[in-house]
Amino acid sequence: MSEQVDVLVIGGGPVGAALARALSGHPVSVMVLEAKTSPASDPRVLALSHGSRLFLERIGAWQNVRNATPIETIHVSQKGGFGRTILRAEESGVPSLGHVAGYGEIHDALVEGLSPEVYVEGAKACEIDLSRGAVDFDYLGERRQICARLVVMAEGGKLVEQVEGIEVHRKDYGQWAVIGQVRTDRAHDNIAYERFTREGPVALLPFGEGFSLVWTATPEFAGALVEMEKGEFLQKLQDHFGSRAGRFVDCGKMSGFPLALRYCEPIVAERLALVGNAAQTLHPVSGQGLNLGLRDVAALSRSILDCRIEDIGLPGMLSAHAKSRRMDREGGIRFTDSLIRIFSNEIPLLDSGRGLGLAALDCLPPARKWFSRKMMFGLRPGRIL
Ligand SMILES: Cc1cc2nc3c(=O)[nH]c(=O)nc-3n(C[C@H](O)[C@H](O)[C@H](O)COP(=O)(O)OP(=O)(O)OC[C@H]3O[C@@H](n4cnc5c(N)ncnc54)[C@H](O)[C@@H]3O)c2cc1C
Repeated sequence: MSEQVDVLVIGGGPVGAALARALSGHPVSVMVLEAKTSPASDPRVLALSHGSRLFLERIGAWQNVRNATPIETIHVSQKGGFGRTILRAEESGVPSLGHVAGYGEIHDALVEGLSPEVYVEGAKACEIDLSRGAVDFDYLGERRQICARLVVMAEGGKLVEQVEGIEVHRKDYGQWAVIGQVRTDRAHDNIAYERFTREGPVALLPFGEGFSLVWTATPEFAGALVEMEKGEFLQKLQDHFGSRAGRFVDCGKMSGFPLALRYCEPIVAERLALVGNAAQTLHPVSGQGLNLGLRDVAALSRSILDCRIEDIGLPGMLSAHAKSRRMDREGGIRFTDSLIRIFSNEIPLLDSGRGLGLAALDCLPPARKWFSRKMMFGLRPGRIL
C-alpha cells in the first residue's frame, strides 16, 4: 500500500467510489479508504436521474448496473387536497426521467474494476492532519498513515466534525423514512409516485416487478411500522397512500432511517474537499441526495484533471471548485427543505395553495419541462456532463 497519493478519498460509498472511478485511467494517483468490509449491504433503493445515468456512462460504470428499472412518468399529488402534476420522459425529450436501482448494485457497479490497492476495504480513517495532508487509519488491526495532496471526505459526514474551519448546520425533521419493497395487484408501468401528506411524503418507485417504498412518518409511528405484521402494514399503507397504484398485496422486510438536513459551509478547507453526504445530507423527498453527490464528483474530478498535478489541493483550485458547486448545492438544499416545510404541515390555507401550485405546473408544459430538466441535471447542467 503506497504511503503518498495525489487524492485520498475517505469513504467508499457510491460517491467516494464514483470519484475514484472518474479519476482512474488518468495520470493522478488515488486511493479510497472504506471502513466497512461489505459497504454494499445497504437496504436503500435509489432513484438515479437521467443526468446521473449519463455521468455513470461517462465513467464506465452504467454498463455494470444490470437491474435498473426506468422511470418514464412521475406522478405528484397531495393527500386530502386537489391538484396533481404528471411529468413525462417523452415531454422532456429523454428516454426515461431516471432509473431505480439498489444501493448495493450502484455501489458495486462503481467499484467493479478498481484494484484492491485503489479501493481499500476495512480501512477506517481516524485522524486527519490537514497541514500535512496526513490521514491516520486502522487497517487489519494496525494503525497506518497516508499523505495526500488532496483529502476528499466522502464518508457521509461522520468525521467532518473533526475539521477546523468547517461549520456544520443541522435541522432535525422529526421524521423517519420507512423503506422496503411492496407489490400491488397492478403492473407499475414505470410510473413513480410522490404523494405529499401532512405527516410527510410517501414515494413509490417502480423497481423490478413491484415498487420500492419510502414512507415518511414520526419516529414513533415509523418504529411501529417496521415491527408491524404484514397484513396490518399493507392495510395501513393502503389507507395512507390510497389506491392510485392499485391494491397493496405483499411487502418485504421494512427498515427505518432517521431524517435530517445537515450541510457544511464551506465545502473546502486546506487540502480538503467534501462531497456527497459529507457535504450535504438531504431529506430523501424527490430523491436528490445521491444525484447531487454525483454532481459534486463530476465537478471535483473535472477540477482535479484540469489542473497540474502539483496544483491539486491548492487554495486556488479548491476555491474555484467550491464556487462552481454553490448554486446547484444551495438549490438542492433549499428545494428539498422547502418541499418538507410547505407540504408537511397542518395549515389549512396552504392546502389550496399547494393544490394550485401542482395544478398550475400540470397545465404549463414549458414549466413542467423546465422543472424536469432541473430535477435531472441540477441547476448548472453545463458543469455536470
Ligand atoms: C431513505 C432514503 C432514501 C433515499 N433515496 C434516494 C434517492 O432515491 N435518490 C438519491 O439520489 N438519493 C437518495 N437518498 C440519499 C442517498 O442515499 C445518499 O445521498 C447517498 O447514499 C450518499 O452517498 P455517499 O457515498 O456520500 O455516503 P454514504 O452512502 O453514507 O457512504 C459513506 C461511506 O463512508 C464510509 N465511512 C464512514 N466513516 C468512515 C471512516 N472513518 N473511514 C472510512 N470510511 C468511512 C461508510 O462505511 C460508507 O460506506 C436516500 C436516502 C435515504 C436515507
